[in-house]
Amino acid sequence: MAKIGINIATGSLQQEEIIIGIDLGTTNSLVAIIHPEEKKPVVIKEHDSSALVPSVIYFDSYGNAIVGSEAKKHLITEPQNTIFSAKRLMGKSYNDIRQNASFFTYKVFDDDTERLVKVQVGNRFYSPIELSSFILKELKQRAEHILKTPVNKAVITVPAYFNDAQRQATRDAGKLAGLDVLRIINEPTAASLAYGLGMKSDEEKTVAVYDLGGGTFDISVLRIANGIFEVLSTNGDTYLGGDDFDAAIVKRWMKEHRITEQQVAGDKALAQALRIRAEEAKVHLSTKDVYIGKVNDYPLQITRQEFITTIAPLVDKTIQCCKNALQDAELSAGDIDEIVMVGGSTRVPFVKETVSRFFGKPVHDEINPDEAVALGAAVQADILAGNNKDFLLLDITPLSLGIETMGGLMDVLIPRNSKIPAKTGRQYTTQKDGQSNMRISVYQGERDLVKDNRKLAEFNLTGIPGMPAGLPKVEVSFLINADGILMVKAKELRSGVEQSLEVKPQYGLTDEEVEKMLLDSITHAKEDIATRALVEAKTEAEQLINTTQNFINKNREHLTEAEINATGNAVKNLQDAMAKEDKDAIQRKIEALNELSRPYAERLMDKAISMAMKGKSV
Ligand code: ADP
Ligand code: MG
Repeated sequence: MAKIGINIATGSLQQEEIIIGIDLGTTNSLVAIIHPEEKKPVVIKEHDSSALVPSVIYFDSYGNAIVGSEAKKHLITEPQNTIFSAKRLMGKSYNDIRQNASFFTYKVFDDDTERLVKVQVGNRFYSPIELSSFILKELKQRAEHILKTPVNKAVITVPAYFNDAQRQATRDAGKLAGLDVLRIINEPTAASLAYGLGMKSDEEKTVAVYDLGGGTFDISVLRIANGIFEVLSTNGDTYLGGDDFDAAIVKRWMKEHRITEQQVAGDKALAQALRIRAEEAKVHLSTKDVYIGKVNDYPLQITRQEFITTIAPLVDKTIQCCKNALQDAELSAGDIDEIVMVGGSTRVPFVKETVSRFFGKPVHDEINPDEAVALGAAVQADILAGNNKDFLLLDITPLSLGIETMGGLMDVLIPRNSKIPAKTGRQYTTQKDGQSNMRISVYQGERDLVKDNRKLAEFNLTGIPGMPAGLPKVEVSFLINADGILMVKAKELRSGVEQSLEVKPQYGLTDEEVEKMLLDSITHAKEDIATRALVEAKTEAEQLINTTQNFINKNREHLTEAEINATGNAVKNLQDAMAKEDKDAIQRKIEALNELSRPYAERLMDKAISMAMKGKSV
């Protein structure tokens, strides 16, 4: 049973919120959850139907969006109103897809710029984010209908090669569908999780995830250690999948029956029927030896052996990609501990055999290959829900994160080994009068000086209104979200000007690099402490000289000649000590300057206060 709580405000009963895992696929999408009683991931489906929802959107004549199998029926007969493969357009500009423009049988709006693509249906334009949100909305509604409870939170998977823009687009699509996207995770990571790989904290494994879907092929090599999944390499072909198997079968049949390209181009119903029969044959041949069917008066037949001959060149292509991925990861086939088969097309026995032969060991195919990714997303959702406490270890920052402060010092905001998500903030101020900019440089590492750490990003907070040094209050806040993306924000609190930036902290550092950075911080600890003390003394000295000189300039008429000269000398002494980089001498001269200026500073202060008092009517 899911936990039930009582809402204190309303007195009503509340069920613990459910978090769903979503595989938002190019061809098919589906939802999974952790079964509340069996504690195992299960896909969500109506009793006797499939959990798979075709990622197809059909717009009817009123402009209503219909998603799934219903929409798929219009794919060939009404191509201009039926959108498939919207995932391929996520985060892309028209220039990005120009080469494959003919693939899309609907109208991808060509404004010939670097701007993000839109799809035109009738007189309406849809962004890929909106299109994906239609699919997500459908999945959310199905889940709510079947689970009989509102669903507002989700984990969504994306291909490992998706860049930041594509991940953000996916997140936005979720938001648009009314989902709070708690995390975006990589499809191969999810598939591994579904197989329980990486669930033990002491486990170290190299895993290859072979994912052959409807229109895309991805091979990912992952290194799993201490509950952390690292993508060593990815490869694949974004225009190769099970649909190409279908197309190859259609071609074969067309040749047999002397059906020409023009004929099918002019007879959409025939084209559609051939396509449907070809997919049927392919699925049939995964378990049987021969397929016999018919379209109109054409008898259609294909044996398993003929099918293998037809698709062999395509399967060979995937093996070439596997070779490339291994090469990029600097591994050989024998180094792979586990091979995970994902995607509906890996149901083809010939595909399984070929991959198994290439890696020299049996492959994992115990879980439905078209469900593995969603099931893994559900496992991740369960971890986020806090139901799997041992596993939280996964989410820590390997190195400290901070910003550069005066004198090149590292000011740590989020210490290493902090749990993610994490949030902190600290206030800083300006060093110079009227300073209108403040540079925020973000670093990662354990050393006291930023120059020994790794710079992640830098930005300028501009437009700080003119104020004396020390008066502006700039709050710098760090937020690491559950995806490991760091958001840095700087805000001047008096004026409200703010600036923010997103940084990816963990990526790009190997375990060895992290280890070396930690080791360095220990070896150099003593010397770092000394350097920090010197830098701090120098910074303090600089500020003191600045304020003293400002004070003298402003109050010259209230000071004696002797006071001005003595102060000048003390400043000079302090500057000499700074030039010698002598920390103790700097501190002594700071003291001396303070001692000297205190009497007249106090005198002027008293005067200012009494003036102010006089002006006031009590
Ligand atoms: P995607 O990840 O691209 O959304 P899927 O993993 O759902 O796609 O894979 C869809 C592909 O799997 C389709 O081409 C479909 O025809 C194919 N497929 C599904 N079941 C079988 C089967 N039993 N044998 C062969 N191919 C199959
Ligand atoms: Mg998939």
